[in-house]
Amino acid sequence: MEKTFLMVKPDGVQRALIGEIVSRFEKKGFQLVGAKLMNISEDLAKEHYGEHKERPFFGELVDFITSGPVFAMVWEGKDVILTARNMMGKTNPAEAAPGSIRGDYAVQVSNNIIHGSDSAESAVREIGLFFKEEELVSYDKAVAVWI
Ligand code: ADP
Ligand code: MG
Repeated sequence: MEKTFLMVKPDGVQRALIGEIVSRFEKKGFQLVGAKLMNISEDLAKEHYGEHKERPFFGELVDFITSGPVFAMVWEGKDVILTARNMMGKTNPAEAAPGSIRGDYAVQVSNNIIHGSDSAESAVREIGLFFKEEELVSYDKAVAVWI
């Protein structure tokens, strides 16, 4: 089953949105297979956001993502990578549709509440960066047959 890496960023944790965000993905029908509250080291931040290292906002992005705890998660389900991106909304909250997480809770692109893998390749890479194999829990849910 497809898996993706999602993370409530420091602004989402400070604003007490962990529960709201977890709830949206649970209610949608996806399954949580790993989660932890953690601080991101500067090295991990630079590795995670490596694709943006030449961008002018890279330093600010690394400072922000290491500024406080994040809630890192792995979610599983059919088409979860693309569906989660749609549920998050566009990167710039001003363009994110109402009803999406960024559309409902964020104003600034630099404080946009949530991260989600953008492809199957990034999902594998990011899950590997944040979680050890034994931290992911595989289990059957009776409700899965209804989704
Ligand atoms: P996404 O998080 O939607 O995949 P990107 O991968 O393009 O977006 O960018 C990673 C993160 O960098 C964004 O979520 C946002 O927090 C930050 N970011 C992107 N563009 C800007 C910008 N122009 N100014 C400041 N921060 C930005
Ligand atoms: Mg991205």
